[in-house]
Amino acid sequence: MNRRFFSPAPLQLGPLQLSGTEAHHLLHVLRATPGDEITLFDGAGGEFTARVESTARKTVVCQILQARSVNRELPVELVLGVALPKGERQRWLIEKATELGVTRLVPVETSRSTQQHANNSTDRLQRTVIESSKQCGRNQLMYISPTTSLDAFLRAAPAASRRWMAHPQDARATTAAVTPAMDSPTWLLVGPEGGFTENETAQARTEGWQIIDLGARILRVETAAIALTSLASLPIE
Ligand code: SAM
Repeated sequence: MNRRFFSPAPLQLGPLQLSGTEAHHLLHVLRATPGDEITLFDGAGGEFTARVESTARKTVVCQILQARSVNRELPVELVLGVALPKGERQRWLIEKATELGVTRLVPVETSRSTQQHANNSTDRLQRTVIESSKQCGRNQLMYISPTTSLDAFLRAAPAASRRWMAHPQDARATTAAVTPAMDSPTWLLVGPEGGFTENETAQARTEGWQIIDLGARILRVETAAIALTSLASLPIE
């Protein structure tokens, strides 16, 4: 049973009152009682051992007993820019990107994007990041940036980063270049269902991005995003 709980407030040793979703989970799913031990994290790095002291109808009071330094982050920054799909496919993508250790996810608007990523849905995306982090043991939350234009995203990647744009059936594309790196930030980019335009891939090349082929089949946005992220991240741990 998952006994990891998130605190939106920074954690330190001493008493803490949990309310909202986390208290609800503790009270009504785990049926926590005084004396139970749980793990808390606040998304900023470490994790904490705590003991349930008392419960009320909507709140739980804990005593934080010990701070543990547990790092489950990738050794390098991994930034994923993606023209987000909608609904359940979007939630799935955010969940898997969190599990794979993406440092920052940037919703990118391209000329063929069909979805305007409304700012008011950032809370919902962030909730998915928290739920996924509780499950996978991540103590640092994946940051979700405000929606960015493709032009701004392409130019924002630092000169020292490795930059890979997934684009199918491009004569100049390669998969050979996709190898994880311990020493430099990696920026990834996946396009919308309609794909990137020729102008967009040309601009990416000019900005130092390498075009990447993920195989002979056309992948949905979320499959391409997770395939590319896996290639860039899995062997480096
Ligand atoms: N007809 C579109 C095209 O030709 O680009 C298909 C777009 S695909 C559904 C959505 C995005 O996933 C693409 O923009 C690309 O970033 C990525 N993608 C999907 N399959 C890919 C593949 N085989 N190689 C590289 N990128 C791929």
